[in-house]
Amino acid sequence: MAYLGIPKNTIEVLQKYNFNFQKRFGQNFLIDTHVLEKIIREAHITKDDVVLEIGPGIGTMTQYLCESASKVFAVEIDNTLIPILNDTLSEYDNVTIINEDILKVNINKLVEEECGNRPIKVVANLPYYITTPIIMSLFENDVNIDNITVMIQKEVAERIVSKPGTKDYGALTLAVNFYSTPEIVANVPPNCFMPRPNVSSAVIRMTKDVEPKVKVADKELLFKLIKASFLQRRKTLVNGIGNFKELNITKDRVAEALKEMGLDENIRGERLSLSEFGELSDLLSEK
Ligand code: SAM
Repeated sequence: MAYLGIPKNTIEVLQKYNFNFQKRFGQNFLIDTHVLEKIIREAHITKDDVVLEIGPGIGTMTQYLCESASKVFAVEIDNTLIPILNDTLSEYDNVTIINEDILKVNINKLVEEECGNRPIKVVANLPYYITTPIIMSLFENDVNIDNITVMIQKEVAERIVSKPGTKDYGALTLAVNFYSTPEIVANVPPNCFMPRPNVSSAVIRMTKDVEPKVKVADKELLFKLIKASFLQRRKTLVNGIGNFKELNITKDRVAEALKEMGLDENIRGERLSLSEFGELSDLLSEK
């Protein structure tokens, strides 16, 4: 078996197929066996698991996934990679390659058909240009997931795990934390990829919460409040929400709710924790 985590083997495959990297698909292939082993370990994959891999590339991580999981679904948008994947993964009978845009795949249907009620694990070295839409669509579509362990831009990973009151804290932090408990499990420098990306990367594991950390009466309202609060982060919450067209909430109502929560009426959204946003949402939905 020619493992593609070894740079020499990756180069051989790329040359054999005369492969041209497509920047528009965010193609940076992993060429570091230690990083690959670390991702598999941190995703807590066992022989019972069904894994969804987003963007297998030439199959570098897929080889590891096939060896550690029971079944692997690998969704790749670039059709020029499909014959390569059929070649590099030919020794495995537990992988299904799907040539599709991940944002167009009905993952719920796939999970239902293949796993019954068992949750899947999602593993990927994500294309960085669509990191947020991919993560959010998995959560928002309520896919039955155990955890999502993905390589993303380091800066985005830091935003996801940031704390209230810091410059990185924002709508993405709150959205991911609403559904899961995130943890950065590895930092990965550009030289672990071919070609080298211009940014540093990190592996983040988002373990889906079985019981939501925050329960709200109106989830849509909560997410609109979060959006309104971070559109212009230097604004106070009262102004941010009061001026937000998608909501019909007066500044007075926001000020009153903040007072009820014992918070300063000049407070900015970046100071509020997820549970405080939840409390604010419930107070405003009652009124
Ligand atoms: N997993 C491989 C590795 O680690 O070497 C490749 C990772 S590369 C960063 C991202 C992969 O995602 C590429 O193969 C790219 O073609 C694929 N991709 C990009 N956009 C996609 C989409 N919307 N749906 C599915 N795959 C996509």
